[in-house]
Parts: sequence; C-alpha cells; structure tokens
Amino acid sequence: MNAKHPSVSRREFLATTSAALLAGSAAATKSTAADSAGAPKLAINGGEKAVKVAVKRARRWGDLERERLNAMLEQDSLFYWKGPQTTLALERYKKIYPLKYAHTCTSGTAALHIAVIAAGIGPGDEVITSPITDIGTVIGVIYQQGVPVFADLGACTFTLDPADVERRITPKTKAIIAVHLCGNPCDLNALKAIADKHNLILIEDCCQAWGAKYRGKPIGTVGHIACWSLQDTKHITTGDGGVVASNDERFGPILQKCGDKGADRLKGGGFQMFATNYRMNEPTAAVLAAQLERLEGFASKRAMLGNLLTEKIAGIPGIRPHQVHPEDRCVYWFYFMRFKTEAFRCNRAEFVKALAAEGVSCSAGYISVPLHREPVFQKHAFFAGHWPVREMGLTTMDFTKHQTPEVEAILQNGIRFTIHEGMTEEYILGAAEAVRKVAKHYAV
Ligand SMILES: *Cc1c(COP(=O)(O)O)cnc(C)c1O
Repeated sequence: MNAKHPSVSRREFLATTSAALLAGSAAATKSTAADSAGAPKLAINGGEKAVKVAVKRARRWGDLERERLNAMLEQDSLFYWKGPQTTLALERYKKIYPLKYAHTCTSGTAALHIAVIAAGIGPGDEVITSPITDIGTVIGVIYQQGVPVFADLGACTFTLDPADVERRITPKTKAIIAVHLCGNPCDLNALKAIADKHNLILIEDCCQAWGAKYRGKPIGTVGHIACWSLQDTKHITTGDGGVVASNDERFGPILQKCGDKGADRLKGGGFQMFATNYRMNEPTAAVLAAQLERLEGFASKRAMLGNLLTEKIAGIPGIRPHQVHPEDRCVYWFYFMRFKTEAFRCNRAEFVKALAAEGVSCSAGYISVPLHREPVFQKHAFFAGHWPVREMGLTTMDFTKHQTPEVEAILQNGIRFTIHEGMTEEYILGAAEAVRKVAKHYAV
C-alpha cells in the first residue's frame, strides 16, 4: 500500500525500535493506563479501550412492514401497475420528495439506467460523473452506448469538483450524474449552473443519500432526474429496489415506459421506444411503503451522529474530517475522513488497526481503485470483450490514460467509519476519543 512512500517503512521502523529501546524496562515493570508522558495507552498495546459501549443495530423492519405485507396478500394481483402498494409507496415518496413523476423499479442501477434512457443518451454521448461510486452509476450509460467521463472530487467533500466537471465538457457531453457520495450533497447550484450553461441534463444519484438535504431542500429536487437505490445496505431498503423521479415534463412522463419494456401503460401505442423490464412488484412496494415511514428517523439520527463526530475530531493534527456545507444535511451512509500520511509515524492500515482495537467500527478506504482503473474499463471490454462505440470511432476514450489525482489520494488515505441509526452519541464520543488518542500516539 505504501509503495508510493518507500520512506515510511524505514521511518516507522526507526520510530518503533527507538520507542521500544526508550520504554524498555519501564514497560516491562509497570502496566498503567498511561505512558510516562501521561498519554493514555493504546488499546492495541494493552490499554483501556476508548469506546466503552457496544454498538447494536436493531432490525430495520417489523410491524410496519408486516402490516403492509398482510394487506398485499389480500390482493388479487401482485403487479405494479395501479397496484395499491405501489400507489401508496409513491404517495409517501412524493410527500418527502415533491416530484411530479416518480416510478418504482428493481434497483438503483435500474433507476439510473431508466434516467439515462429518458435523457436520450445514445452512442458516443459523454456523461460526466464520479469515479468513486458504485459501478451501478455508469452501467446504464455504458448499456446505452454512452461514454462515462470521470471527473475529480473535492478533497474532503468526496463529491464532484464543479471546476473539473466543466474542464471535461466537450461537444459530445450530454449529461452529468452527480453522485451524493456517503449522503453528502454535491454542490448542486454550481453543477446546475454548468448544466444550464452547456445545455446538459443533470441526473442526481441519490442512492447513498436518502434523507439528505441540499440548502434545506430534499436531495433529488434540483437536478432534472433523480435516482434512488433500496439495496440492503442503503438507509432504507426492500432488499433490492429503486425509485426514479423527475419534475421535468421532458423526462418525467416517459420514466414509466423507460423501465417497462418501452410500453406506455397509460397511453398505449405499442413499442415506440426500446427499454428493458425493471418493474418492481407489489410485495417489494409494500415494504417500500413501510420503510418510507422510517426514513426521517434513520436519516436525522445518522446526520446528528456524523456531525457530532466531525465536531469532536476537528482540529486533530493530520486528520481532515468529512466536509459538509453548513446549510446541507449529510446523512452519512458512511463517514469518511482523510489521513495525512506525512503527519504520522504509522501508515493508514496500522492507524485503522489501532482504531479498531479501541472499539471503533472502521476500515481503510472504500472501493479499492477508481472505477476507470477496474479491469473491465482498462480493457475497454464491456460487450463480449468489445466496446463497439470505440471500435466504430464514436469515442476516443482511453480509460488507461484517464486521470483523477485527488480521487487516487482519497482512496489511498481515506478512513471509513461505520455510521448507522443504532449508534449512540456515547459511541461517537468514544470513537472521537479513539481518533484523538491514536493520532496523538502516532504523531510525528
Ligand atoms: C448502491 C448504489 C448504486 C446502485 O444501486 P443498486 O440498487 O445496488 O443497483 C448506484 N450508485 C450509488 C452511489 C450507490 O451507492
């Protein structure tokens, strides 16, 4: 991991050996909670853990879901079209997200694919997005023979850097997919201004951002089309599922047929366009209707916990907290912070190991490499080893030459903290204390 910093291991070696020599017999004889300088001993070295509470995550479903599922079982049809569960779920959804057109589907990936079809992305069209995301963000783009173009991210917001987005615009650019990574809203005013100036469609990937707010407004209401995932790890879930929505008269009315084989169930008229089957069934919609009742509770709890962690770790040398605009609500699908390699005698893996020993639920990084460095991108091998748009000369995109330096750095020195609605303030205070303690111990 530290191949880029070969000096670190030598520095670490010197630091640990000299510390061991100095500590020597003292360490052997006394095993108090603090070292000679009065700093608390790390749990990894036998000290007391900073986190003193167990973290339990309660079941995320129960009577609300049971009630809906029982109602669903009395129905004669489990099909979505005009289904009572789907109707109720979309009603509840629209109370939270005041978007005129909303449609259920089978996943976040499906929602994004539907959005891209509705946006009219075609062969060779470029779509600018984040390289740190679930691959589902770009699967639809590639299936429509569009070309994902990856832009760099803000160092501690982990969302699209509007200036870099603008630099990557070409005459072929048709859309931007703004990924609200970790539940932190992108700078939507800036992205919307860029989209308007260049006549681009702004799609919001809200999969990690249920309950997030941008300048007080629910996420998903600034862009032209918004997409959500209900996969098991998301804030609310149906195991798998998704929602796609829009207020725009160009896109909203066609979302349904873009996720239902190209057939308009309201107007009929046969197959005027081509799309696949991404329909959500009634049993799934029943669970969605119930989960939406839980959303605000989950989201506000996570927002509070993540903000508390930021408040408590602010100012620790070498640590850069998750950066959120003061007027936004980040719902922390997870909490991400940056670790300044040069500020510590240990590497990220050792830092994370020490934090974990303190009782913190954390891990190093997120996805292992930016999307464009994954093998399927590097080989341009999306369709049976081929990428027709490239072979036909509709794009010159070469993912092996694509560069997003801040993104590389984020993935190399980011540290991820689990945040969920079952956690308590007490846990967060312990986790913050652990960061302080471990950072102090390893400070250069
Ligand atoms: C989960 C996720 C997706 C894909 O959602 P699925 O329901 O798993 O298909 C897309 N984008 C982001 C940012 C996600 O977190």
